[in-house]
Amino acid sequence: MIFDIYRLLLDYFGFQNWWPVHQGQDKVVEITVGAVLTQNTSWKNVERAIENLIYKDTLSFEKILKMPIEELEYLIKPAGFYKRKSLTLKEVSKLFLNSKEINRQNLLTIKGVGKETADSILLYALDKPYFVIDSYTKRVFSRVGFCEEDISYDELQKVITNSIPKDLEIYKEFHALIVQHCKIFCKKKPNCLNCPVAEKCKTFKTSLFTF
Ligand code: SF4
Repeated sequence: MIFDIYRLLLDYFGFQNWWPVHQGQDKVVEITVGAVLTQNTSWKNVERAIENLIYKDTLSFEKILKMPIEELEYLIKPAGFYKRKSLTLKEVSKLFLNSKEINRQNLLTIKGVGKETADSILLYALDKPYFVIDSYTKRVFSRVGFCEEDISYDELQKVITNSIPKDLEIYKEFHALIVQHCKIFCKKKPNCLNCPVAEKCKTFKTSLFTF
């Protein structure tokens, strides 16, 4: 049933091919930095901050670590919370430069890296099969009827990963499709009438007569 949602979203939206990086940039660095910067802001703002780092030729773990904190704050300012995010970026850079292995455990020791950020880095930057849960995921799956809205991160991650093939590309696509779906259809005020997963959705079925 959960996999049916994936198929319906993929049929409707097509492959999202996340996470695109700028030409000539290191994929691991750009995605990791983007995963930290995207907290509590729009992607448009993250792009502006990443472009500043690229323009100054500083999008590398070495350069981020060496750079004066004030300069880093200035460059990433468009992404908001720039003081906290600068410190997190320095810690993350240190971890990548000094650790033999990057895993969920050591990522989660860094202040400013929660489960969603850690799993985004593991999945999209390091190609490890960790399914990313965010507020969109909780929204869709609770509305469709698979869980309560206040389900925990770990519980929902378990529910989803137990229901779909353990496949890196499916994990990447499914999360990207959920984000796209929530931006277009399953918004705070949902647009259910044209929704590609309406036939499977409990909210749609129970509120059919109110539309
Ligand atoms: S039918 Fe409505 S509530 Fe259900 S997934 Fe689609 S947009 Fe969301």
